[in-house]
Amino acid sequence: MKKIALLGCTGSIGKQVLQVVERYPDQFKIVSLCCNSNGQLLSEQINKFKPMVAGITNPEGALKIKSLPKQTTLYTGENALLHCVLPEADVIFVAVVGFCGLSAVIQGCKMGKVIALANKEALVAGGEIVMPLAKEHGATIIPVDSEHSAIWQCLGENTNKPFKQILLTASGGALRNTPISELEKVTASDALKHPNWLMGAKITIDCATMMNKGLEVIEAMHLFNCSLDKIKVVIHPQSIIHSMVEYTDNAVIAQLSAPTMDIPIQYALTYPNRKPTSAKQLNFFDLSLTFNQVDTNRYPCFELALAAAKEGGVMPCALSGANEVAVQLFLQGKIKYTQIASYVKFALEKVVNMPVTYQNLVYTDGFARECVMLAFKEKKFD
Ligand code: NDP
Ligand code: MG
Repeated sequence: MKKIALLGCTGSIGKQVLQVVERYPDQFKIVSLCCNSNGQLLSEQINKFKPMVAGITNPEGALKIKSLPKQTTLYTGENALLHCVLPEADVIFVAVVGFCGLSAVIQGCKMGKVIALANKEALVAGGEIVMPLAKEHGATIIPVDSEHSAIWQCLGENTNKPFKQILLTASGGALRNTPISELEKVTASDALKHPNWLMGAKITIDCATMMNKGLEVIEAMHLFNCSLDKIKVVIHPQSIIHSMVEYTDNAVIAQLSAPTMDIPIQYALTYPNRKPTSAKQLNFFDLSLTFNQVDTNRYPCFELALAAAKEGGVMPCALSGANEVAVQLFLQGKIKYTQIASYVKFALEKVVNMPVTYQNLVYTDGFARECVMLAFKEKKFD
């Protein structure tokens, strides 16, 4: 029986992790559940899965939790997340969104755990400290992001295997066919209509701007220990090939499936074994797979991410933090779609690069967020 600590249990990924647990109840047991504010759903999940520990960071959300099974201890407030990184767990499943995942990943590394990692922002900001820490403490990071799971599978689940380059596929997001001149008028609900995937709001907007792909390039650099020039992004609108690895002999290994997170989520838990999932079988006679270059005029956020990746240090952390705030402002209807890139660029210009330490990351993340908020209050880009 594998014991799972699940951080971000009420989100899109978290709920799918619980479906895997329900599919194979004799293989998996939930030992902790944590979310931010959705006390209603957390309460239902606690009563169903009866974890040892539950956590909710927002105390107001906690008011929705009226009763607890006798074996469950509930933590609220900022430290709830870290209370849920339980020593009793075999796997820490990090499915929270945003920078908040970093402290949990660091704690999981220090405990030498297997970390199933969906939260890309943690690696983008802190990969430089997370990866060596995992090595030092014998922790294993299993990628859950579909592209990185695909790359890991193409490497034979061996992240030390030498390769020539990674071909990271991208759908192009919800607005890939919207004329560039019309992007200014795009609303949150337009940008949330992803053609192939159903995901949380923040990542869906990141897919539209392709900030997501930029973050994934940085995530891949850390996970697979490679430089920026070894990663090529390929637009593949059908999202059937989840990524590819090219080897020195020019052989290319790809991983294909219907676009569903069920496979990468479940495989992170069943690895090295495979078990049936809810994924539809591919019918190759129905497929038509196409590939394009990235149109950089359409995706300024992608360019900002590559520039931050090139600069290194705390710049990817600043990029990710500024983007989190800008995306929230856009989702709230407070800024235009095209201003997301303007605010992120503005914050990056203000940040002074520093060596990566946990303190410097926390500082930079906060500073980048503040830059965006101040610029927003001054209506800098209206
Ligand atoms: P959602 O927004 O759907 O869910 C986020 C989860 O994190 C919720 O459970 C939320 O709680 C919780 N959370 C947020 N902040 C905190 C906090 N401070 N403390 C504790 N819990 C917190 O996001 P997704 O599931 O879409 O994405 C999760 C991560 O996985 C992201 O990093 C994303 O980039 C990555 N990812 C997602 C994919 C997808 O298909 N969705 C695909 C690949 C990667 P609450 O509900 O209470 O707010
Ligand atoms: Mg992805």
